[in-house]
Formats: sequence, C-alpha cells, structure tokens
Amino acid sequence: MDGFIIVFMQYEENYTFLISLQKLDIKIDAVKDRLANLPGEIEELKNRIESLKKELESLDNLLKDKELKLREKNSEYREKQEKLALYKKQLLDIKNNDEYRAMLHQIENQKKIIEKVEEEIILMEEELEEFRESLPERKKAIETEIQAVESEKDKLLGMDSVLKKDISVLLEERHKIEERIKVSVLKKYERLRAKGYREVLVPIKKIMGNEGEEYVCSACNSTIPLEISLKVREGESFVRCENCGRYLYYEFENEEVK
Ligand SMILES: [Zn+2]
Repeated sequence: MDGFIIVFMQYEENYTFLISLQKLDIKIDAVKDRLANLPGEIEELKNRIESLKKELESLDNLLKDKELKLREKNSEYREKQEKLALYKKQLLDIKNNDEYRAMLHQIENQKKIIEKVEEEIILMEEELEEFRESLPERKKAIETEIQAVESEKDKLLGMDSVLKKDISVLLEERHKIEERIKVSVLKKYERLRAKGYREVLVPIKKIMGNEGEEYVCSACNSTIPLEISLKVREGESFVRCENCGRYLYYEFENEEVK
C-alpha cells in the first residue's frame, strides 16, 4: 500500500488515497471478472473432455468398421468365385456355338471382376494393418490430452475459493484506505464509478506529438492542453479531462525512475 502513496505525494492526501483506492478497485474488478468467467471456462473444459472421449470411442468404432468392411469384401470375393465356377460348369453343357462364345466372354468378364475385388481386398488389408498399428499411439495421444484437460479443469474448480478469498482480502484493504478519505471526496469518485466508469481517475501520459512532447489522457487519448497538464503535474486535484470527464493525475515517481 505504501508504495502507491509515495507515488502521489504531490497531491493532497485525500486524492492520493483515492488513487490508491481506485487501483484496488481495478484489482477487485479483475478478480471478480475472473470469478464470473470461471463457470463458463470450466464448462468449456468439460465439453472438451467429452468430445475427446467421443474421439477415443470413434477410433475403436472405426477399427470395427474397417474389419467388417473387409469381411464383407471377402465374402463378396467368395460369391464371385462361386459364380465363376458355376459358369465354367455350365460351359461344359453348352452345345450351341454362339452360346458357347457368349459364356466364354462371361467367364472372362467374371475373372476381371474377381481381379478387381482381389485388388480391393489387398488395399483394404494394408489400410487396416496401418490403422491397427497406429491405433495405440493415437489413443495414447488423446488420453494424454484428456488428462491434461482434466487437471486444468480441477485447477479451475479449486480456483473459486482462492478467488473469493482474494476478494475478501482486497476488500479489507480497501476498507482501510476508504476510512482515510473524506466522504465528500469519496462521493465524487463513487458517483462516476456508479455511472460505469471503471477508471474514474486516470494518469496523463507523455507522448511525442507532431510539435514535440505533449500530454494525453490515458483513457481517451485526447490531448491535454498545456495549462491543464501543468495543473495536474503541480498536484491540483480533480482536474478533469475535457474530452471524457475523468479526473487526471500524474505519476511522478515513474518519471524519476526512468
Ligand atoms: Zn479523457
């Protein structure tokens, strides 16, 4: 806490404490945001785990599917062979020349069909073999990812109480500072905060503009006229940015450190 206070010694004490108070409020807001986002983040991780588990299942199903298709292809092969045997047998009984030639032609066709099925079977067997070999590694990769996501999820589940504790510590600290600020000063701040300003007091920042060094409001980036930036740097409290209406301060210590 003392760190903040030294930085703003140039300002009247109330203003200095108010700036410290706001720094705490911004911290508290951030922790509250984190806390509010937690259930959504946990839900997202749960969904991720579910989809990884499905992916794992689908690998086994894919294997079964490939095995089934190969069995079907093999029985197709046997049927085609049986048909070929039948044609050959029928050939022996044919007396007519034209019919004989037609049957020979059909036999040739059947042989080509069988060749094609054989080629398909070889391809399918190779593919199945590759798939089987790659399966343990693929499963392992998914299982490892599931474990990682699980532990991330557990971490977030434990975070809830940690964040709540952080907030209560920060609120206690806030209360101590609040007590040291005049009520009228505090009200000015609370009023703007209630309007939705997360930052009511903002530092002015030095930049290199077209005409040399100039000061801008760090919230809205508009240029602060020279006389206003002088007032702020001389330690005048509650000087407002003409553009966004926030109160301006100057971080003296930063400049000395540089
Ligand atoms: Zn501004």
